[in-house]
Amino acid sequence: MEIVSNLLTPRRPTRQISVGSVKVGGDAPVSVQSMTTTKTADVTGTLEQIYALAAAGADIVRCTCNEQAAAEGLAQIVPRSPVPIVADIHFHVEMALAALEAGVHGLRLNPGNLRKPSEIKLVASECKDRGVPIRIGVNAGSLHPEIYERFGGATPEALVESARQELAYFDEVGFSDVKISVKASSVATMIAAYRLASETFDHPLHLGVTEAGPLPGGLIKGTAGIATLLAEGIGDTIRYSLTADPVEEAKAGRQLLESLGLRERKGLDLIACPSCGRAEVDVIAVASAAQAALQDRNLPIQVAVMGCVVNGPGEARHADLGIAAGKRRGHLFIRGQIVRVVPEDEMVAALVEEAEKLVAEGVEARLAARDVSAEKEAEADRAALLDAKGLDANHATERIEKIRRRTEGH
Ligand code: SF4
Repeated sequence: MEIVSNLLTPRRPTRQISVGSVKVGGDAPVSVQSMTTTKTADVTGTLEQIYALAAAGADIVRCTCNEQAAAEGLAQIVPRSPVPIVADIHFHVEMALAALEAGVHGLRLNPGNLRKPSEIKLVASECKDRGVPIRIGVNAGSLHPEIYERFGGATPEALVESARQELAYFDEVGFSDVKISVKASSVATMIAAYRLASETFDHPLHLGVTEAGPLPGGLIKGTAGIATLLAEGIGDTIRYSLTADPVEEAKAGRQLLESLGLRERKGLDLIACPSCGRAEVDVIAVASAAQAALQDRNLPIQVAVMGCVVNGPGEARHADLGIAAGKRRGHLFIRGQIVRVVPEDEMVAALVEEAEKLVAEGVEARLAARDVSAEKEAEADRAALLDAKGLDANHATERIEKIRRRTEGH
């Protein structure tokens, strides 16, 4: 689709920051965010949801880090996530530090409930040392009580003041790797707050209407706020907050950006794992070859390229089709179920062939046509790889030990 964003008010220039591999602000495309609803300590369930969100269009995913078990989960999730992970922090400075130890790509701090200047500066210094950005996530519902009183409520000015105060603490330790949100559940308040924020700061802005509620009302509220601002050139990254499966948030975000001409429409949706310590193949090379082979075929499906057979088919079970590598073989899977095992050098060709059949015949027919011995062969490969690399291919145990030392120190 033609990019027509030049018909809207040009985007206001902001500084650019990097959340892992995703650039936010400056001339970077407006990115889509969502948040998991699983317990972060549930590594498998959370990764499955992250993959589903990535496939639905999320560029960045946030996970709550509200307890030590969540931080330990993050130590295992981050190296296996296909998109950068931001830890959501409320109240507890030690959870911010533990999330950093877990290797997250960004933090979200709520200035309304993490209030001690010494703690805020400690987190900012640590983020500075590690090159990890922070979102100052002001929320009308949990505004700092002193600011609430001073402004006589959660007014747009009060929201912006809360962000300004937090920024001042960051300035004291020379930390400026920041994006800002000033969310409210009132669309009018949120629009006014972001307009003011865009005049006040040159940091990238993360747009959202909080607690927008269930579908369809939540979608309308979110769109009213986010689209209005984007059309005015305000906003660098967005999140719909819906009382619904977060996949709906990611889809809505993506569709909104496409409908405004701020992102290109996708036909084929190819996702790839980040290739962690378990990878059995050069994931980037296979993903690029798959992209090149599939892109002109205009197949409306999600395809996953995964670095290992141990976790790949499960993590990407929401994808229509995928290939995972192991023991010089590729495991072809449809919706998480292994349908064929092929030699490594035939992985891409097999993927293309299956993609075409899948579109022509449908999921049920292709599952029925699967090679009956494939699952057994796949299981043997998985067991051999687990034997070879153990359960902790990413050395998450070391990070978890550091997290425990940190959390116990407080
Ligand atoms: S190599 Fe395996 S465990 Fe690692 S990110 Fe890829 S699929 Fe997940």
